Amino acid sequence: MSKKHNILDIVNADLCTGCGICISESSGKLKMDWNDHGFLTPKPIGHLNDSDSDAVKVCPFNPQPEENVKDEDNLATIFLNKSKHLDEKIGRYENIYVGYSDKFRSSSSSGGLATYIFEQLLEQNIVQNLFIVKEVNGTYEYQWFSDFKQIKLISKTRYLPVTMENLFKEIDSKEGKVAVSGVACFIKAIRLKQYYHPHYKVKIPFLVGIICGGLKSKFFTDYLAQKAGITSSYRKQDYRIKDPNSTAPDYSFGAFNDEKELKKVRMVEVGDMWGSGLFKSNACDFCDDVTTELADISLGDAWLNPYAQEGLGNSVIVTRSTSADNLIKNGISKGDLSIGELSLNLFKQSQLSSFYHRQDALKYRVDNIRKHKKIIPSVRSKFFTSIPIYFKIVQKHRMIVRKKSLSTWKLTRNKTAFDNLMKPFKTKLQKHTLLYHKIRKIKNILNKLK
Ligand SMILES: Cc1cc2nc3c(=O)[nH]c(=O)nc-3n(C[C@H](O)[C@H](O)[C@H](O)COP(=O)(O)OP(=O)(O)OC[C@H]3O[C@@H](n4cnc5c(N)ncnc54)[C@H](O)[C@@H]3O)c2cc1C
Ligand code: SF4
Ligand code: SF4
Repeated sequence: MSKKHNILDIVNADLCTGCGICISESSGKLKMDWNDHGFLTPKPIGHLNDSDSDAVKVCPFNPQPEENVKDEDNLATIFLNKSKHLDEKIGRYENIYVGYSDKFRSSSSSGGLATYIFEQLLEQNIVQNLFIVKEVNGTYEYQWFSDFKQIKLISKTRYLPVTMENLFKEIDSKEGKVAVSGVACFIKAIRLKQYYHPHYKVKIPFLVGIICGGLKSKFFTDYLAQKAGITSSYRKQDYRIKDPNSTAPDYSFGAFNDEKELKKVRMVEVGDMWGSGLFKSNACDFCDDVTTELADISLGDAWLNPYAQEGLGNSVIVTRSTSADNLIKNGISKGDLSIGELSLNLFKQSQLSSFYHRQDALKYRVDNIRKHKKIIPSVRSKFFTSIPIYFKIVQKHRMIVRKKSLSTWKLTRNKTAFDNLMKPFKTKLQKHTLLYHKIRKIKNILNKLK
């Protein structure tokens, strides 16, 4: 029989995104802490023995899950079994929409749908508490919130490591029900917790899923702050300063320096931070849930024409439970939401590069760790497919850039030195990506001519 893995095996294999749910199953023997690559991961407080390996059952990357909950498809059968539609790539769903909330669009990351949904959940008394990410002492952490009149305080998504460590430590002391926002692996961890402790399904009746392209280390924010011209420490960073006179992808990063001045940098000047894998967690390379399949509602950026032309942003919205769909439909009929239906095909187009990377190239990365006899987290083999050699080369270089970016920032902590040292690796990746895009384009044209 193969060795039973525990949480520290997951952490040591670099397969942890810091959700913090295992802490609630560890009898006080684990706590979350920053590691030297700028991620939050569990650290042991005392000596772990065999019985402590139980905490791994709620880990979204557990390599040995129970058959019933072995992946997103099984979990969706348990938690979203009433959804009308099923698609192999996006999971179970009711409807797909695109648009924005009139009230929250300008102060939110995309179309302000997350803030709108949370406002409605509180106002309509569907839940009495939110567990969401909000500013505290100049940075951002998960915390409790319940004042719907102040709801704008919770707006905007924060692209830095956060943890739900306190959710199950504190939830039993909260009166009423709870809604939580989270990226796919965080939502999966909550579903696993609900599976093993079914009363939390009643206590947490609504999960807002943030569609996620990858977890960035804290180094990403340190780098952007320097790029914005901050040489001191920084506070209250805003990752999405939108320009109503430009397009949606043309936004800025900004933060306050020690002199309380807001310093900004346009992200197009910084270069490709998302497609290149810079500062990304290794675990994200083994996440095949592109659209947060286990949430009641999944929200993402509508970076898709014509919506991407609007600088204030639009949201893509996938409702997966009837309660979520009702909130959207009521919002439209009350005139709160400027939203229309979006076809499945167009929705998939909005996340196309994520599908290519996370689902189509999954087998290549799994084969790679299998070759090195490393732990293989639970992934869905239904996505396993062979990719052409030129895409494999892109994958290889992305993995190099990802790993190098973390070790290089750890060493330099300086934007100029970092840029210089990373340049050869980034150039190689760009060259191979360009070639890959060209070949794909030619193949598409040839296919159409057939
Ligand atoms: C790391 C990351 C990667 C992303 N990658 C993609 C992508 O590849 N494709 C895509 O379409 N969309 C992606 N998004 C989501 C997108 O950028 C928007 O955040 C999303 O559409 C919500 O916009 P909104 O206007 O509805 O949110 P808002 O109305 O601004 O509200 C945001 C809500 O999210 C909560 N929140 C803030 N930070 C976090 C966090 N780190 N984790 C969980 N909850 C948080 C806040 O408390 C608030 O309730 C990503 C988000 C994150 C955090
Ligand atoms: S991903 Fe979550 S559950 Fe898994 S080890 Fe990390 S903090 Fe624990
Ligand atoms: S890409 Fe997947 S594993 Fe990575 S943070 Fe996002 S949801 Fe979690």
